Amino acid sequence: MITLTLEQLQTIYIQAEKIYPEECCGLLLGKIEGENNLVSEVRETENSWNAEDFEFLSLTERTKRTNFSIAPEVILKVQKEARDRNLAIIGIYHSHPDHAAIPSEFDRLIAWPQYSYVIASVRQGKVIDVRCWKLDKDHQFQSEEILVE
Ligand SMILES: [Zn+2]
Repeated sequence: MITLTLEQLQTIYIQAEKIYPEECCGLLLGKIEGENNLVSEVRETENSWNAEDFEFLSLTERTKRTNFSIAPEVILKVQKEARDRNLAIIGIYHSHPDHAAIPSEFDRLIAWPQYSYVIASVRQGKVIDVRCWKLDKDHQFQSEEILVE
């Protein structure tokens, strides 16, 4: 389960609608308490997707409308900053412009098992759905419950 405040969710929605029709992305900072991932901050990051970085994948769609990437140096910087505040990166969020809030094969290939993946579906510029996913031991996504506080 992942717990967010309504305000945090709205921060994601506003960003997703602003960046539409491209995918937005960002990091979720917080704490893991047993089975519950408590988000304490939503951190917007740039979608630094560059098709050349992923040439080893045979993707049919190769633009920011269907893919996202967060620069490794950005993740490292936020990780350090989070640690200083006794927090950790517990998840990654991104949007799916005109697609369901279901992970793509690309999302699965680049996913890490320790993170929760929040996906917002944006249709014609409006967020219509949000879901969360986490990898299981076979590197397949399973749905994770979102609790809004
Ligand atoms: Zn995706």
